Amino acid sequence: MNNLSKKNGEMKIPFLDVGATYNDLKQEIDETVQRVLDSAWYILGNELEIFEREFAEYCGVKYCIGVGSGLEALSLVLRAWGVKAGDEVIVPAHTFIATWLAVSHVGATPIPVEVDESSFNINPKLIEQAITKKTKAIIPVHLYGQSASMLEIKKIAAAFGINVLEDAAQSHGAKYGNKKTGSLGNAAAFSFYPGKNLGAFGDGGAITTNDKRLGETVRMLRNYGSKKKYIHGNIGYNSRLDEIQAAILRVKLRHLDSWNSQRRKIAEYYINNIKNEGIILPFWSGTNDHVFHLFVIKCMNRHNVEQQLTKAGIQTIIHYPVPPHKQDAYTAYNKIRLSITEHLSSQVLSLPMGPHLGIDAVKYICSVINSL
Ligand SMILES: *Cc1c(COP(=O)(O)O)cnc(C)c1O
Repeated sequence: MNNLSKKNGEMKIPFLDVGATYNDLKQEIDETVQRVLDSAWYILGNELEIFEREFAEYCGVKYCIGVGSGLEALSLVLRAWGVKAGDEVIVPAHTFIATWLAVSHVGATPIPVEVDESSFNINPKLIEQAITKKTKAIIPVHLYGQSASMLEIKKIAAAFGINVLEDAAQSHGAKYGNKKTGSLGNAAAFSFYPGKNLGAFGDGGAITTNDKRLGETVRMLRNYGSKKKYIHGNIGYNSRLDEIQAAILRVKLRHLDSWNSQRRKIAEYYINNIKNEGIILPFWSGTNDHVFHLFVIKCMNRHNVEQQLTKAGIQTIIHYPVPPHKQDAYTAYNKIRLSITEHLSSQVLSLPMGPHLGIDAVKYICSVINSL
């Protein structure tokens, strides 16, 4: 161990302090939860309705529909579009597996397209050659919080008459030009899993769109395929964002922009201060097209970096160690070669990141990395 980490021997830095946002807003959140409990109305009520309005407005779209999770948000849109067995949907090869699972859940086939090595996002230049007569949609993921190349993607989609579903599970508040992610495709799916930039204290998700009919269909599908109580026009689901989570999200939404700018400040500090030849820093334009859900570096010798950071009390996570096409869930894909994705999965390492990460901790992390 070097001197610095000895000196800071007591330092323990968690990857993400999820509880910190609660501690910050404890009184307001406690009162909010109490209010919902006292209201005796827990599913599909006022809180959800108001949150849906507020989040639609935040994203700059007409409609928001709260659902049970990010995965369900993705699959409900595909289902509402009528995507089914025999259809194909283009997905990034390098993503959290839920992007693929949503496609599989409606019976369609995920068609992986390689990502750009420096932005980690789907490479628009490779999309066109993956399109066939069966292609029904493209799901770009704004991975790690940075918006995908939506202009190019939308051009291709328009030329082939296919839909674009943004996977915005990691990009709440990120912009693309002057528009927010969630307002760029034909629809978008958000997750409110506790660790996301806007996280509930349980599972949750939402769909945003300007398409009125799609919004109505998803609204019906999330509630047993019913528009009117006990009248079922569709074989629907039970996938709803509950009142307590919606009320908590309303409180947290008011802090999202300042939390995101705090994340950008930390990223800027990492980028300006990490100096190690064995490490490649993430590409960032320097604008608010990135909300740094994760700060992901690439390491020539990841095992060593990981071990040394652990020794120094710094927790890191790999997003993601096994790509979807190498998982047992997708054995039919196991032999496909996706070299960029496979390479990334062997190099990426996520450093601690979150609005409550103190600058002292960030300085310490940089100095440990620079001493390797
Ligand atoms: C978290 C995540 C999801 C799934 O969201 P859940 O709410 O956990 O179901 C989907 N896509 C991406 C890229 C994610 O990071």
